[in-house]
Amino acid sequence: MNPTTIFARATGTGRAAIAVLRLSGPATADMLRTLCGILPEPRRASLRALRHGSDLLDHALVLWFPGPRSYTGEDGAELHLHAGPAVVEAVAEALVSLGARPAEPGEFSRRAFSNGRIDLLEAEGVADLVEAETQAQRRQALQQADGALSRLYDGWAQRLRVLLAHQEALIDFPDEDLPPEIEAALARDTALLAEEMRAHLLTGAQGERIRDGLVVAIVGPPNVGKSSLLNRLAGRDAAMVSDIAGTTRDAIEVRLVLADLPVTLIDTAGIRDSEDPLEREGVRRALRHAEHADLVLRVACPGAGMEPEPRVPDDIRVWNKTDLAPAPEGWIGVSAQTGAGLDVLRERLAAEMRRLTDLAGAAPLTRARHRAGISEALEHLDTAPHLDLPELRGEALRLAMQALGRLTGRIGVEDLLDTVFNQFCIGK
Ligand code: GDP
Ligand code: ZN
Repeated sequence: MNPTTIFARATGTGRAAIAVLRLSGPATADMLRTLCGILPEPRRASLRALRHGSDLLDHALVLWFPGPRSYTGEDGAELHLHAGPAVVEAVAEALVSLGARPAEPGEFSRRAFSNGRIDLLEAEGVADLVEAETQAQRRQALQQADGALSRLYDGWAQRLRVLLAHQEALIDFPDEDLPPEIEAALARDTALLAEEMRAHLLTGAQGERIRDGLVVAIVGPPNVGKSSLLNRLAGRDAAMVSDIAGTTRDAIEVRLVLADLPVTLIDTAGIRDSEDPLEREGVRRALRHAEHADLVLRVACPGAGMEPEPRVPDDIRVWNKTDLAPAPEGWIGVSAQTGAGLDVLRERLAAEMRRLTDLAGAAPLTRARHRAGISEALEHLDTAPHLDLPELRGEALRLAMQALGRLTGRIGVEDLLDTVFNQFCIGK
């Protein structure tokens, strides 16, 4: 059965000069012929009058991409229209009357995947590229869209295939006909591969931080100026400041970009003992946020106790209210009121964030899906040497290979596709 020809607006819907409608599917050529009068030369932009019946719809730049050398692998086209809503609507209506239907989110990329133009990891890279807000995100997404992760995982799958062949040789020809070192080599190569996967899982923390951002929790006793500090760092009044202790009962979150990385700053409720159940709940949440944060700003100030401190290795000690008294040794002194010391604090935060996202050039995994797949493959590789029967060892290698295959989407991923492609925007 032929797929339906789909179309979608590939550009944003705000005020703009040009709107790009994108088409894909077997009826594309017929639709272009109807609208333009002729089928334009492939992959060459040309200005055409678009007509539907006697109605002149627009003068548009038209691009015709015959399959299979197109993004989706199908016949496709782009219509660069004047962006007036009535223009876009008229052309969309004409396309519908010619048998096309509006695309669903991610449907173009899903077709590209189904037609073998991109694998699942590359598709995710494209989705991230469309969403990229920082330069670090752009670079990482581009790397993944270009197949860096695919090549890594395919390489591993290829090595597993060789190991599996050796394992099967051991099953088919027990003892005599095979050189004895083959079994030792098999065990050694399996362990080597497992080590590479373990190292890759570690880079994942960096990759996910670049993609999703870092979480920085601001913690400390009430009234030391946590909310004031958050507002300073965010450059706006996000959190309520008051001199009544316990004003911030729940966590307040602010998103910003620092050191080219997205950060979520969390202002936690003052951590202290309290009788008030609402405030106690706030304190409980504060401690939980601090535990999950990538970085913790531990704030103190003159006169405030420095007691209950959630201990994490990456905490940055901030002494606030230096307008009242200077900071002790080992603390970064700031005044949320005057702004003094904030540059130093920002620089220190940026340095810590760069450290937490430093990849040393490796292509990192970027999603929980990747982490789960690699962990699964690793589990099978780690189990294999402990299995007595060579058949079971072979099965473990096969399962590890399958886990990798699901990551690129080369095997058994039907159930996954909705989840992956529904995260795309319409028109991609
Ligand atoms: P939080 O409870 O830790 O969130 O503290 P707030 O941000 O609500 O501030 C508590 C009180 O300290 C408020 O009255 C602020 O105006 C005051 N405050 C905050 N930062 C400074 C500062 O740098 N210097 C001085 N003198 N007062 C500050
Ligand atoms: Zn507060």
